[in-house]
Amino acid sequence: MLSVSPSPKRGNHPHVLILVCLALLVLGGVGYAWYGRASDSVSGPAAANQAGTGVSKVYSQVDTPNPANVEVESEKPNPPLGLPLEKLGVFCDNPRDPVKQVALTFDDGPSQMTPEYLNVLQSKGVHATFFLIGKNVQRLPGMADMIAADGDEIGNHTYSHLNLAKASVTEGVYDILRGQDCIEQATHQKPYLMRPPGGELDVPAIKAIQKLGYRIVFWNVDPQDWKKGATPEQIIGNIMTNLRPGDIILLHEGKLQTLTALPELIDDIRKQGYQIDTVSGLQGAPRRRGPAAAPFAATPAKTLPEAHPPGGAA
Ligand SMILES: [Zn+2]
Repeated sequence: MLSVSPSPKRGNHPHVLILVCLALLVLGGVGYAWYGRASDSVSGPAAANQAGTGVSKVYSQVDTPNPANVEVESEKPNPPLGLPLEKLGVFCDNPRDPVKQVALTFDDGPSQMTPEYLNVLQSKGVHATFFLIGKNVQRLPGMADMIAADGDEIGNHTYSHLNLAKASVTEGVYDILRGQDCIEQATHQKPYLMRPPGGELDVPAIKAIQKLGYRIVFWNVDPQDWKKGATPEQIIGNIMTNLRPGDIILLHEGKLQTLTALPELIDDIRKQGYQIDTVSGLQGAPRRRGPAAAPFAATPAKTLPEAHPPGGAA
């Protein structure tokens, strides 16, 4: 985003000091603007809420749900944020987990296959975390509450599988809240875990999501189960290689190869002496920290100004 020219060769040139000072000033200004944007952007919807606009009300005025399922091509961890994700408060795994425990997570549901996923989990006595897309929750009524009724954990994966690094902060907040609203209406539970679609995030998005009261959850094991041609054997093999305590395993909903792999995968993980739990069941995992910030009223994104500069910050 910002490149600094190599320093002139060392010498007793007084202008070198001036150049360094100028560079520091520019860097400081950009850094302030970058970090400051998140809170600025979130204040818009928050202010709207004070005016009494309800989230659900606003959602109902927007477009009707797209009947097509949301297609997802890739999940890409560890975006180039300049800092390790952990330092930004993003939970990727729990390497200090004293217990041999791993978490299974399923993204992009619910789907027509959700009951079959749940059957496998139930028959094996396992609980998992499902990061749901709001649009799919609307499209398939009854599925999200089925997941919740089984005692599995539900997290937010936005309403439309929005790329949060490319969208403006305001658009991102709107989409997250819209997804949250779908989950709350279906399950009467407010999610507090959030997984960014595709693992796409930038620093303003992270700050905004955290302001909403969410704990952001990534993963550290990606067996690429969503890829065309991926076989159950490959998926199991990719996961079982170097499995470690505290790992968070990324899987997807609505994929036949993943569903087929699931029973054997659970057996293999247990054979290595691991317990399987939800993300919040991991020792040292993010916990709910009281009620989320007062709900923001989302305003239709189309009417809001662009909060990101062209090209985004990361
Ligand atoms: Zn996804």
